[in-house]
Amino acid sequence: MKRLTLNFSILLMVVATWLTFAYSAPLLNTLEAYGVQSFTQFKLMAFTLCFYAFVLALSRFINAFKPLAIILIIVAAPASFYMLQYGIVIDSDMLINTMETDPAEAGDQFSTSFFITLMALGIIPSLLLMYIKIPKARTLTQIKQSLVTAVCFCFLAVGIVYTSYDDFASLFRNHRDVKYRIVPFNVISASVSVIRQKLERPAQFTSLGQDAVQTKTSAKPKVMVVILGETARADHFSLNGYERPTTPMLSQLATSEPILSYKAAMSCGTATAVSVPCMFSFLTADTYSNAARNSSNVLDVLENAGIRASWIENNFGCKDVCNRIHTIVMDEDRCGETGCYDFEMLDDLSSWLRNITQDSIIVLHQMGSHGPAYYKRSPEKLKHFLPECKSEELTNCAKEEIINAYDNSLLITDRLVSQAIRLLRSHKELESSMMYVSDHGESLGDNGIYLHGLPNWLAPEEQRHIPWIIWPSETFEMTGNNTDANINHDNFSHTVLGYFNVETSLYNPSLDLTRLTRDM
Ligand SMILES: [Zn+2]
Repeated sequence: MKRLTLNFSILLMVVATWLTFAYSAPLLNTLEAYGVQSFTQFKLMAFTLCFYAFVLALSRFINAFKPLAIILIIVAAPASFYMLQYGIVIDSDMLINTMETDPAEAGDQFSTSFFITLMALGIIPSLLLMYIKIPKARTLTQIKQSLVTAVCFCFLAVGIVYTSYDDFASLFRNHRDVKYRIVPFNVISASVSVIRQKLERPAQFTSLGQDAVQTKTSAKPKVMVVILGETARADHFSLNGYERPTTPMLSQLATSEPILSYKAAMSCGTATAVSVPCMFSFLTADTYSNAARNSSNVLDVLENAGIRASWIENNFGCKDVCNRIHTIVMDEDRCGETGCYDFEMLDDLSSWLRNITQDSIIVLHQMGSHGPAYYKRSPEKLKHFLPECKSEELTNCAKEEIINAYDNSLLITDRLVSQAIRLLRSHKELESSMMYVSDHGESLGDNGIYLHGLPNWLAPEEQRHIPWIIWPSETFEMTGNNTDANINHDNFSHTVLGYFNVETSLYNPSLDLTRLTRDM
């Protein structure tokens, strides 16, 4: 059979038009929602088309037209699918999260609609493109053709910007997120940014806090259990006033135990890959950069001061935070293919507590409420809110079903945190405390936004407003018992140092939640 032959200029226009319009639904929906005039929308699409045509024309120069076009098509299909499905945008942080996704975690995100979209908007157009033949041309003709076409589209693009400067300037100034919604431009831009970040990352590990010393010790070994939550939002904890009983065990315990729940705590970022390294670092939400992952964190500094640090991992990795300390991984060998429920870490915590001989800290990294498969986070017999959304495609479920599945996952967190406190309370030979902090919050469908990971400046409050619970409250009282105090992940590392009386030049007493009590 004879292959279809298309002139390069025609094929270039077809591909550029496809790239501009086939994946444009997330962008056009947003422009509509922002009330952007139709003519401005048209000019933006025309500019995008010229941009793709310019880049593709240049690629012909090095004989890379088809490979580049296929890469753009293949990355655009899943990007537009997830943007439409969950209301996300693609920036460098989102790309890093995706690259660090565990195969099991990724499995939760693949649905029938995902594969249909990948086929229809990714694989089939790519195969078609491979099938179409471009007539052979002499190298010199090819170079000339490439340059002339690129220059033409460059002029056209500049002309559009020149005549629409005011409209574009106002659009991008008022709505910074628009450029992260242009598929596949956003994926390319994010990739360039990630590559730049990776190149900038210092190869040498930066050792911090070598000057750390413990200035005061207690009669009994001092212990802190940190429960590092996942995807829990503060406003869904009944302990914080949520109308459904999502924390029945903690609420019951709080009637007899000094449990403090901060109600205005905020996370450093909106994704695990940012929040977890950020909270254990000595940087703040404003100064955090990826380089912190290649430096000592508060657990390393505690070890420098002679305090033993351990980690139990039941999430998809500790994001470099536990690299240098003793770590127990809750994997398939322990709990089978479905993974471990968070409360199964209690057995390890119990045996760890029985072997304490010195001041020690342990972090329990939860699976928490990791989505979109919230229903997988709680076993059948412990589900209280029914019916649940049993699909990874949240948009197929009623909002109530999504919230039921999400709230059921919080019941498991409630069980873990309250039982950890009970366990610690039974160890009278130890001076112990517990701090539960979530890494970030979650969107559950309000305004069509699901999951998390939006840039801080764009994220709705529920993606950063986190539960933060401590026990016993005497250890951590800040501004009396003011549970409305504005605290955030910046406080975490300094509070841990303060609790263990560790002095180091990294320590900032103004961020230490225990300081008030200690100074009294
Ligand atoms: Zn997370």
